[in-house]
Amino acid sequence: MRFHRYYEVDIVNGPGTRCTLFVAGCEHQCRGCYNQSTWRLDSGAPFTLEMEERLIADLQDTRIPRQGLSLSGGDPLHPHNVPYIRQLVKRVRTECPGKDIWLWTGYKRAELSCPQREVLNYIDVLIDGRFVEEEKDATLLWRGSRNQVIWDLRKERG
Ligand code: SF4
Repeated sequence: MRFHRYYEVDIVNGPGTRCTLFVAGCEHQCRGCYNQSTWRLDSGAPFTLEMEERLIADLQDTRIPRQGLSLSGGDPLHPHNVPYIRQLVKRVRTECPGKDIWLWTGYKRAELSCPQREVLNYIDVLIDGRFVEEEKDATLLWRGSRNQVIWDLRKERG
């Protein structure tokens, strides 16, 4: 997996103070995409084990407490990215207790494959759906267009 940007302290992409990772690779080609440079799977830089360790350490850092991790892109659920993202979110679940994980994808939840759905077992909030320019609404929180849905998976688990 490759990535474009990593913010070790971020207050824009999700609630509270967070670590945010923008991965490479997206096949949705939404018109008006704000992040076209991330579409290619071979763009950006390799997400190495060293980067993974750094991200885990940042989430565990008590000097600047993070509420959680935000995964965006590109698309973290691009089939190529899924095995790496699954490994990452499993680690965060185990090694960073109390941190929430938010994930943005262009796929609709109902259309996810089995491997993509497995990732949902380890995250807290899913924001799904392509960006649709005609439904763009700058007043929306955490999503760009009205068709996108914020799924609070914690509530579903009870
Ligand atoms: S899903 Fe996101 S990154 Fe992918 S094309 Fe659409 S807006 Fe761009």
